[in-house]
Amino acid sequence: MSVAAGPTIEHARLVVDVPAGDGWMHELAAGEVLRIVDLHGNQAVDALFFDATDYSNRYSAADTIREQAAVYLTEGSRLLALDGEPLLTIVADTCGRHDTLGGACSQESNVVRYGEHTRHMHACRNTFLTQALAWGRGLDKRDLGANVNFFMNVPVTPEGGLRFADGISAPGKHVDLRADRATLVLVSNCPQLNNPCNGYDPTPVRMIVWPA
Ligand SMILES: [Zn+2]
Repeated sequence: MSVAAGPTIEHARLVVDVPAGDGWMHELAAGEVLRIVDLHGNQAVDALFFDATDYSNRYSAADTIREQAAVYLTEGSRLLALDGEPLLTIVADTCGRHDTLGGACSQESNVVRYGEHTRHMHACRNTFLTQALAWGRGLDKRDLGANVNFFMNVPVTPEGGLRFADGISAPGKHVDLRADRATLVLVSNCPQLNNPCNGYDPTPVRMIVWPA
């Protein structure tokens, strides 16, 4: 079943707008579908995923990339955990490509890339840590590994280089993720102002959850 053509908003069990620069944390039951909507276009949504029954078994970028021989995520991609089994599968995608390599912005990386004057700026690592500590149950800094950047365009050059390029998303583009087991989702709606990942203008995104 294609969710894009299936359930409507009235059938959702949850609809939440996450402001630019803010975070969101939520547990999905097995079979539930999470839609992330890029309401205004060109907005990077940094995301981490954890097996809800064992937070040490989290999303693994290396396993996800190697097992599918693909650095970008799109419809059909599985997001693998450290145990090699999928946490979620992308079941619909109107954007077409999502990043696995660019990582989350931090105050430290901002200083290195853009200069000391950016040190005070809020960054995804701050949001991840704030959300994880507020969630409790033992989640903390050590659980923040490599993340997915939905809607973010980080093309790999033929020489193997990485570029942070202008976005390929647009207003209303969305990606649907089906939880293949109970999965904890941690999102940072990126506040970055110094590179084109948010079009230099961070904007809100919408989270919609449909029951299994
Ligand atoms: Zn960021």
